Amino acid sequence: MIDPSRTVALVGRPNVGKSRLFNRLCGRRLSIVHDMPGVTRDLISAEVRDDYVLLDTGGIGMELEMTPKKIATAAEDQVDFAIRAASVILFVVDVRSGITALDEMVAEKLRRYGKQVLLVANKVDNQEEEADADEFSRLGLGDAYTVSAEHGRGITVLNEAIDEMLGPKPEGSSGDKDKRIRISLLGRPNVGKSSIGNRLLDSNRLIVSDVPGTTRDSIELDLDYKHPDGETLKFRLADTAGLRMKRKVDSPVEYFSGVRTQHALERSDVVFLVIDAVEGVTKQDQALAGEVLDTGRALVIVVNKWDLIIQRWEEEPIEGYKNLKHFLKSYEDSLRKEMFFLPDPPVLFVSAMTGFKIESLLETAASVQATLDLKLPTGRLNNLIQSLFEARSPKLVGTKRFKVFYAVQVGSRPLKIRFYCNRVERLDPGYRRYLEKAIIHEFRLSGCPVRFDLVGKD
Ligand code: GDP
Ligand code: GDP
Repeated sequence: MIDPSRTVALVGRPNVGKSRLFNRLCGRRLSIVHDMPGVTRDLISAEVRDDYVLLDTGGIGMELEMTPKKIATAAEDQVDFAIRAASVILFVVDVRSGITALDEMVAEKLRRYGKQVLLVANKVDNQEEEADADEFSRLGLGDAYTVSAEHGRGITVLNEAIDEMLGPKPEGSSGDKDKRIRISLLGRPNVGKSSIGNRLLDSNRLIVSDVPGTTRDSIELDLDYKHPDGETLKFRLADTAGLRMKRKVDSPVEYFSGVRTQHALERSDVVFLVIDAVEGVTKQDQALAGEVLDTGRALVIVVNKWDLIIQRWEEEPIEGYKNLKHFLKSYEDSLRKEMFFLPDPPVLFVSAMTGFKIESLLETAASVQATLDLKLPTGRLNNLIQSLFEARSPKLVGTKRFKVFYAVQVGSRPLKIRFYCNRVERLDPGYRRYLEKAIIHEFRLSGCPVRFDLVGKD
């Protein structure tokens, strides 16, 4: 996975050799237009040496019939896009044609935005042509790097210059594996949060210890859970003050409310939203779920008191259902409908009273945690977006549609995807949800919220 800030874009007039240079830099010999990811055929991207993303903007705005005016507009769009999307821009010019008016326009734009630019004079196929590149320093972007994309001349030097401009690749933070997964229980009064908490703490697979330094009324506990497969999963349970003695208190103080809720949320990686199986999803449950979503935390829905449903079923099977499993399935379906705005979270059916499936909370939290740090491969992401657009076009807004040139993940926790698009306001909520759901499905991000960062043309 590549840091999205490590993006290099090729700009320049048609026919200066951008696509040749693109192939040369990513080490491909043949034209790669068709097997390359890119949301539209407009944009071609590749990951180079597992170090940076290279973009060829040359297709943006290009049509079959191009008038000089259309070419100029397209070139301008290409530079605009590159300025927004890339950290380093390779401005390619053609030594055979010298400086053209279009080159001057592009140079002017690049200078104005103060981007890191490498000026590249292409088609310098031999030593004699070197001197012809001198005139390009007039563009005000320094001396040109002279290359021949066709024959490979000057490519090593250019690669070094790109590396130098990008700087060293940041090391992925190590040791994340050993980090504790911060979890918390959230839900309306009486759904069984403290019962679940206490039941968990009783597990003989757990070693529980107080977290030193946490205050009396905001106690955190470290849980080391020995998974049946031998691995030890490490958790930190947030805000458990009162958990152990709660049942002794006459009028239960609602400790997961207001400020406390916020506090617990902020200190969590994964939030268990507990609902009461008998009561089903209430408005308040939906509101709490919305709050969790807003904070960007991952979410697991825990349907507690399932023992009561089992008991009821044993007394008298519920009409219209073949068996309890069938009932559970339909229960889950309607729950998902009522929580449609959530990122397809895992749903667990448990009973704090009998202990049924209580430990599955921890196992689920661990798998959700793993997805939180997922880095979506840029190529696969763009392929997906492209096929989603092909399968269903966005609605017409006036005479135009929402269009994405390129997508890249730019953040984690919550997972954030930046879309470089034509007009931000053309994305309607329905289409947004369609994209979101498909991304969650494709990358199995169940329970992890996905944020979109739309960067349009201004
Ligand atoms: P783009 O429109 O900027 O992507 O340009 P292309 O990569 O399609 O190249 C345009 C034309 O220039 C093609 O016919 C290439 O073969 C030719 N070309 C590209 N690079 C070089 C080079 O280094 N030397 C020579 N002599 N021709 C080149
Ligand atoms: P909290 O306010 O969300 O912390 O809820 P409590 O843990 O205090 O539980 C509220 C009530 O529900 C108590 O009377 C519990 O005994 C009961 N309760 C909790 N979990 C279960 C369960 O799984 N099954 C049944 N039958 N009752 C439960």
